[in-house]
Amino acid sequence: MKKLILLFLGLILISCGGGGDEDVTPVQVTPEPVVVQKFTLTVSAAEGGSVNTSGGSFTSGASVNLTATAQNGYVFSGWSGDSTSNENSISITVNSDISISATFESFLLSCNTPFYPEKPSPDYSENNYEYYSYGWQTNQGMSKICLNSYAGVSEESIFLINEVLTSASNRLGQLLPINITAYYNGISDLDLVMNNWDALKMTNGGFDPGDYTAAAGVDIENIHNGGQGELAQGIYENLVSGRKTIYHEFFHIYQNSHKLYFEETNNFGWNYSRITEGRDNLDFVGLVGPVWIEEGGAEFAGISLSAQNNWIDSNQAFIDYLDEARNVIIDAASRNDIVSLKDYENGKNIGRLESTNNPTGVSRQFAYQYSAGSLAHLYLLKTQRSSLVDMVENYYIDLAELERENIGEGYVYSFEKSFGISLEEFYLEFDEFMLGTRDEQLTILGLN
Ligand SMILES: [Zn+2]
Repeated sequence: MKKLILLFLGLILISCGGGGDEDVTPVQVTPEPVVVQKFTLTVSAAEGGSVNTSGGSFTSGASVNLTATAQNGYVFSGWSGDSTSNENSISITVNSDISISATFESFLLSCNTPFYPEKPSPDYSENNYEYYSYGWQTNQGMSKICLNSYAGVSEESIFLINEVLTSASNRLGQLLPINITAYYNGISDLDLVMNNWDALKMTNGGFDPGDYTAAAGVDIENIHNGGQGELAQGIYENLVSGRKTIYHEFFHIYQNSHKLYFEETNNFGWNYSRITEGRDNLDFVGLVGPVWIEEGGAEFAGISLSAQNNWIDSNQAFIDYLDEARNVIIDAASRNDIVSLKDYENGKNIGRLESTNNPTGVSRQFAYQYSAGSLAHLYLLKTQRSSLVDMVENYYIDLAELERENIGEGYVYSFEKSFGISLEEFYLEFDEFMLGTRDEQLTILGLN
């Protein structure tokens, strides 16, 4: 007991030590009974989503798991109040009164602010590859779609574009945020449009303000700001094919992001020299693969997936392409110009064959890479080489890995892996199919 009293005195002296000249008032200390302390946790959700609990009263030190869920059309953007985490699932230790709120933002928002002002440095380099990971590689960042629209683009058009982009994103997913610029040539201030486009660090001169322009992709010089695309009024005002074309452009971003993405390490990477070398070479094939796969695949996805929403009559679209592709072959054959799908692997070679630089001196009819390219996909589907899901996904998923293992030939390996037939064998089979009668072709393609 004596010891305890001394200890109390000691405490009083210490606690009053800094008090200077103040009078020392003796303090009577009585031991506190042990009480379980409780705190209040208050959890709320802002507009656009919900949380799994509204909180309550918790014993000090209790751990509570909070999960925020965005409703359709919104993405979780972070916690506010006593947590600033960006993870939608967090664990909170309650050791004081806590108030926390989940915030959400509209999935589809207008924006033209770059994520990165400059191209970031690679995380690491290995075997001629540079690897990058980006701050937006979170669920909410990757699903972000920014539709930048300008004067003259009607509410209906904005709705239509958003509808397609959201549907495509839900169906195919996104590896990166997407910026789409919609403008009306007759009214939009094109200087403003181009300035905003520049702010997103697209390649200089990459913006082409035509009346019928639809373009999209992923530029390795700008991937840190996501995928990019532009749509002119001739596209989004065309109620017959507009949504299919917007889907097609989304698919280009899908293809071109996968060609750079490594699932296992969750990062992006590329062999810079492989991308730039040989661009003038007529045999050079890009990382997505042959042009007929890039364009025909986007067209196939645009038609097939739009048709699932009843936006297009896919049978009619494919029949039209069959007639177009047949005409290319018949017209060229009259000059002994033998058309093969293999001719459509490289853009420069296509340009040569579709101009008077064609060895026959007469240009081929246009766009076999779109018409026959999309039919080649339908052919692979109908000859049981692939399901629809595999057709629009599998070929692209392993593309980056297979290219890294087989520099310059990733697409060759991915094609054979996805469809169970080598690309060269497929060319022979498909070219022969294209020489059949129209009725035979309609039967094989399931279009009659
Ligand atoms: Zn295209």
